[in-house]
Amino acid sequence: MDSHFHTQVMHDKGVDTNALLSALFENGFKGGIDAGCTHDDIESRVGLLKDFPLVHVAAAMGPWEAGANEETPIDVEEDFKTIETIQAQLDVLKSNIAAHRIGIIGEIGLDYYWKYGTRKKQIFLFEEQMKLASSIGAPVLIHDRDADADTIDVIGRFPLERGGIIHCFDGCIDLMHAALDNGYYISFAGNLTFKSNAALREALKKVPLDRLLFETDSPYLTPVPHRGKPNNPGFVLHTYECASQVLNIPLERLKELVLENFRRFLCV
Ligand SMILES: [Zn+2]
Repeated sequence: MDSHFHTQVMHDKGVDTNALLSALFENGFKGGIDAGCTHDDIESRVGLLKDFPLVHVAAAMGPWEAGANEETPIDVEEDFKTIETIQAQLDVLKSNIAAHRIGIIGEIGLDYYWKYGTRKKQIFLFEEQMKLASSIGAPVLIHDRDADADTIDVIGRFPLERGGIIHCFDGCIDLMHAALDNGYYISFAGNLTFKSNAALREALKKVPLDRLLFETDSPYLTPVPHRGKPNNPGFVLHTYECASQVLNIPLERLKELVLENFRRFLCV
C-alpha cells in the first residue's frame, strides 16, 4: 500500500503506468491514493486509473496553484495570479470533484520553500479547500514544506470529521501532535531511508502505530537503494523495510497493521 503517488506525473515522464500498476497488483500491491495537483487534472487521472479500483483518486489544487506557475514562483504581493483567478479555478475543481464523485481532497497545503504565489494566497487556497472537504465530508491530504506553524494553525481551525493524512511527514513534533489531536494519520515517505535522516527515524518511533502510513510520492523522493532513479509505488517496500527495523516490528506484521490503518482511513 502506497498512501501517496502521482500517476499522471509518472505518465507525463514516459512511464507506461498501466503496465507498471498491472505488474504491481500481480505482485500483491494493495493499492493506495493517487494525489491530485491541479484544478483540471482529474479527468485525465480518472482515465489512467480506470482499471485500478484499489487506487483511490484524490483531487485538489496544491499550493503551487497559488502562484503564476511552477516555473515562476514570486513571493511578492504583485504576483500576477489574482485571487479572482484562483477562485475561478476552485470553481472548476469543485465541479470536477462533484462530476467524478471524488471522496478525498488532496494534496492541499502550504509550501514556503518554493514560495508559490504569496503566503496569503497559499493560505486562502488551503482554507477554501478545507471548507470544501468539510462540506462534502471528505478527508484531506496535507502538503507542508517549511510551513509547519501555519499548517498547524489551519488544521486546528478547520476540524474535519474524517481527518486526513500528513503526507511526506517532515518530522516536526508539534505538527505531529496537532495532526494526531485532529484525527489525522502520519505518512512517511522514502526520505525515511536517507542516511542523513536520523531525526525523522526518531520521530517515527513517536507516532502511534494505529496512525501510521507509508508512501512514495512517486515519481519523486526515491528511497535508498534506488536514489537517482525515478520512483514508483513498488519502491514503498524499502520504506516499510526501514521502518520495520526502526520500530523492531516484523515486516509482514507492519504491512498488515498499516493496511488496517489505510482501510480505516478510507472507511472501508
Ligand atoms: Zn505529492
